[in-house]
Amino acid sequence: MILNFRQIDSSIRNSGPLPIHDGLSGHSPLPYLSSSKLDLTDGRQEDSGVSGAMTDLTTPAQAEGHLAGKRPAISFEFFPPKTEDMERNLWDTINRLAPLEPNFVSVTYGAGGSTRERTHSTISRILKETALLPAAHLTCVGASRGEIDEIVDRYHEVGVRHIVGLRGDPPGGIGTAYAAHPDGYQSSADLVAGIKKRHADIEVSVSAYPEKHPEARDFDADIDTLKAKVDAGATRAITQVFFDNDLYFRYLDRVRSRGINIPIVPGIMPMHNFKQARAFVTRAGTSVPDWLAEKFDGLDDDPDTRKLVAATVAAGQVHKLAKHGVDTFHFYTMNRADLVFAISHLLGIRAKSAQKAA
Ligand SMILES: Cc1cc2nc3c(=O)[nH]c(=O)nc-3n(C[C@H](O)[C@H](O)[C@H](O)COP(=O)(O)OP(=O)(O)OC[C@H]3O[C@@H](n4cnc5c(N)ncnc54)[C@H](O)[C@@H]3O)c2cc1C
Repeated sequence: MILNFRQIDSSIRNSGPLPIHDGLSGHSPLPYLSSSKLDLTDGRQEDSGVSGAMTDLTTPAQAEGHLAGKRPAISFEFFPPKTEDMERNLWDTINRLAPLEPNFVSVTYGAGGSTRERTHSTISRILKETALLPAAHLTCVGASRGEIDEIVDRYHEVGVRHIVGLRGDPPGGIGTAYAAHPDGYQSSADLVAGIKKRHADIEVSVSAYPEKHPEARDFDADIDTLKAKVDAGATRAITQVFFDNDLYFRYLDRVRSRGINIPIVPGIMPMHNFKQARAFVTRAGTSVPDWLAEKFDGLDDDPDTRKLVAATVAAGQVHKLAKHGVDTFHFYTMNRADLVFAISHLLGIRAKSAQKAA
């Protein structure tokens, strides 16, 4: 099934100004949420990646017009630093991005719980030293229910009200069979239910996979898992990184047709170092289209140009998403501010200090 985005566009134009809503929640009246309502027979597939991105960047008003002047909502993801240098770098990044007033910032949890303390101290420092709302990632791996409950209680005690609840990768690494801790939470849905039961005022976000999770038998099984997480109390899903917007819109169709109405926020990763990032995302099940690899071809020893290309590529992707009504974005920052700041700027987001007084 191929989405006819031109038709989607005209439906959006005809529907008047868009209301503010958090991502593509099923409560949105946007007509493209179910392609089954559209005539998909044309077969012409608009490139929803970055081919054509430059054209889009020359007409940002058009993309922003689809948001009807509304400021998109953004969130940023960081990983906890290992060394003092990395810590300094993270805080430079946080201080640079904070004036963009993200809805929240999240801090990852190392594989197997390896960053338990570092995630906690980063989250605590964000709470203490900034006005940002932090979300702590948490997985079920390698810990009993009691240990996880204790972590959740500690977060609640210091004022954290948002957790990104995950199953986590198999303790033996990606590609090995997953075995839950015998006394632990048995699945991500189990974890979500556990958090909500202990602290109903903690908001829980979860993962979503536009290309399906590599371990999932098929899309139906993958969406069964998402449904279980929503039924357990999750109120937002953040997607795994993807580069082909068609995959996201098709996934959205599948999710909505199963009656899942929470926002499915696209996870956007600017590729600072294409080769490294490709290896990393491929392992996690994300496909890297040939047209994207071609954009970075010949730039292995040219980091300056690579950076410009990376910003152009990611800005093109978010512009295309915005043009089709997406108004919420989660950025995988890799603890670097420059590209994410530039892309946010191109989305029309201005740092607070740069805004004119009303
Ligand atoms: C937004 C986001 C943030 C992330 N943050 C972190 C992080 O901070 N730390 C970290 O370690 N990882 C993180 N991950 C990666 C994540 O832990 C892995 O992808 C992990 O393999 C799955 O966890 P999940 O909660 O996404 O799985 P789930 O959503 O529970 O399941 C994903 C899929 O796997 C299938 N599945 C689950 N269990 C089994 C099983 N036993 N047998 C067969 N199929 C199964 C499900 O049916 C489903 O299709 C993140 C991923 C995303 C998208």
